[in-house]
Amino acid sequence: MGSELNLCSVGVIRELLSEFDSAPRKDFGQNFLTNLSVPKKIAEIAGGSDVRNVIEVGPGIGCLTRELSAVFERVAAVEIDKKLIPLLGRTLEGCDNVRVTNADVMKLDIAAFAKECFGGEEYCVCANLPYYITTPVIMKFLREGGESLRSMTVMVQSEVADRLTAREGTADYGMITAGIAYYGHAERVMKVSAGNFYPVPKVNSAVVRITLYEAGEEPFRPIDDGMYFSLISAAFAERRKTLVNSVSSGLSIPKPEVERVLSSLGYDVRVRGEAVSPEGFCRISDALSVLRARESQE
Ligand code: SAM
Repeated sequence: MGSELNLCSVGVIRELLSEFDSAPRKDFGQNFLTNLSVPKKIAEIAGGSDVRNVIEVGPGIGCLTRELSAVFERVAAVEIDKKLIPLLGRTLEGCDNVRVTNADVMKLDIAAFAKECFGGEEYCVCANLPYYITTPVIMKFLREGGESLRSMTVMVQSEVADRLTAREGTADYGMITAGIAYYGHAERVMKVSAGNFYPVPKVNSAVVRITLYEAGEEPFRPIDDGMYFSLISAAFAERRKTLVNSVSSGLSIPKPEVERVLSSLGYDVRVRGEAVSPEGFCRISDALSVLRARESQE
């Protein structure tokens, strides 16, 4: 029976992969967990709210999936590697609340998939993410996950966790930090060293939980979301440039106008993007939106 296997034993992982004519695939970012206490803890953290549904990205051989199946009412797991689908049929035997879909998560219509799996109920995301698409997957869910998405609990490389949770004024603070801050609050909740994976990766990992803002609780709301995202993208495109230079060239706004906007908001005109908080970017974005609207009327 699949449910009796220790899916975090390297021996079991090797045997299962070989039985199903497979091996860890680097191109799919396959590093399987080898310490059962880790997926248990991650599932516990993911399940720490009243949300009953979860999407798992990349179940692999199913160690985290099984833990999620014990914590949540419904689990929808999306796995790109078709060789792992029959393997998961074995390892998830008895987990009747799990539905496995063979798909590339980056090509999935997330809102439609969540609706189909959970009928419009609230859901969260939990994953030991493949390292080659960590931030694209996170941003895809945040952008396209719809209003029912409540939180994301994801294991990522330690340096990525630093960037997701950085404070302004630090070297790790950047576009991804300010981008995530638009949707929710990110916190690092657990460290996981490289020795807890097979194959052993070169770097350590960490679990980050992103809790999406409840409607009406957002700390800031730009007048124009598009302007906010264009602004942060321009601001961090070349970190050594001042904000005036990067915004002027990135958004094609004359320098004196950008300087006027920054001064009117109390910023030194030599300020760099990394010193501006997400709320600050929202204020600058709003001022630029007003400027653009005024110009288009003239
Ligand atoms: N959840 C397992 C664990 O914790 O041991 C495996 C995690 S492994 C880091 C990442 C998993 O994501 C692999 O199973 C890999 O095949 C899958 N994966 C990679 N790219 C994917 C994609 N674009 N869509 C869905 N799954 C993907």
